[in-house]
Amino acid sequence: MNAVRGEGGEAPQDAPHLVLRGVGQRFGTFTALEGVDLTVRRGEFVTLLGPSGSGKTTLLRAIAGLAPPTEGSIRQDGADVTAVPVERRDVGIVFQSYALFPTLTVADNITYGLRALPRPERRTRLEAMLDLIGLRAHAGKYPGQLSGGQQQRVALARALAPNPGLLLLDEPLSALDAEVRRDLRAELRRLQRQLGITTLMVTHDQEEALTLSDRIMVLNHGRVEQVGSPSDLYERPASLFVAGFIGAMNRLPLARAPDGGLRLGRWPLPLPADPAAGPAPVLCLRPEWLGLEDGDLAAPLVADGHLSLPGRVLDSEYRGAQIMVQLGLEDPARPDPALAALTLTTLQPAWGPLGRGLEPGRRLRLRLPLDRLRLFAGDGAQ
Ligand code: ATP
Repeated sequence: MNAVRGEGGEAPQDAPHLVLRGVGQRFGTFTALEGVDLTVRRGEFVTLLGPSGSGKTTLLRAIAGLAPPTEGSIRQDGADVTAVPVERRDVGIVFQSYALFPTLTVADNITYGLRALPRPERRTRLEAMLDLIGLRAHAGKYPGQLSGGQQQRVALARALAPNPGLLLLDEPLSALDAEVRRDLRAELRRLQRQLGITTLMVTHDQEEALTLSDRIMVLNHGRVEQVGSPSDLYERPASLFVAGFIGAMNRLPLARAPDGGLRLGRWPLPLPADPAAGPAPVLCLRPEWLGLEDGDLAAPLVADGHLSLPGRVLDSEYRGAQIMVQLGLEDPARPDPALAALTLTTLQPAWGPLGRGLEPGRRLRLRLPLDRLRLFAGDGAQ
């Protein structure tokens, strides 16, 4: 493709590769995207993650030049490319459905975008691409003679052959079965690092996003919920939506007492009240961060950097390396129906000190590390 470069020549190496400002997309009266800001560093791998209909593909299509946004601007390599059509963008695109030409061989598919190059250069580039994807022995085959994983590798080679500045991937692994998907995921990351190519990928698969990305942008109803590294999103979600969308999360609905303090059922919770969490806050904690210990079973207390709550094992499930335990909270002084309705899940190492003694009915203290607790305003969807 004919690359559109910055008006003042090449952008400096440390300049961002892609800058989106206030990008919006309206289809008639429907707003599919609103106010999307994103700055992508050169060589960075950013994933667009979100539920179905959240606007991921719409955003990728705007960045590709397939459907220009109705609001905002897109700059690539220093140049405003907002209205530049796809054939004049410096991008390579891979779709979910391979989109190879069925009547062309693997070699002709890969060199399709290189027709303007002299034959020897085309040949050299083809060989480099075949080596890159490990399909040298299949160059003369047609797409119909290849497996799904092989076809997707060819699609990747075809997108990379013209040496684009930006690689755009729209659910590239979702049509593949689980094992091929895992293999190709690892290969994609290796290739992306080796080539140092700036990459944006759409997925609704959180595991794919966590394992592949330098940063993840979470979209919901066309708006950005959070942009951050995988560990930022997992450990410090910015909203209840992100907390629930990525990974498993325990959610304890709290109430606010008239004095502003927090309550869990009838228990006043010895935690600082965060006014931003509103009148019905939700306390969130990942299952693997919840600890268990024997000890006296009195009301909640804060000790050693933990919130400690009395509870009881409801169920446990042996999973080899870990045991998954379902716990109920309970007030040893008097039954509290509001507490009895609350359960938490934890993952404990099967070889740990509590080991296999986590039988239903066992009473324990639940240890919630204070620095990992997140309080959000409730969304009413408990
Ligand atoms: P999925 O994971 O299901 O592919 P997505 O997050 O990629 O979803 P988009 O395809 O970007 O979602 O669609 C976002 C919203 O915009 C959807 O509600 C969709 O119906 C709507 N939409 C997309 N393209 C158009 C169009 N050309 N005309 C009208 N509405 C559209």
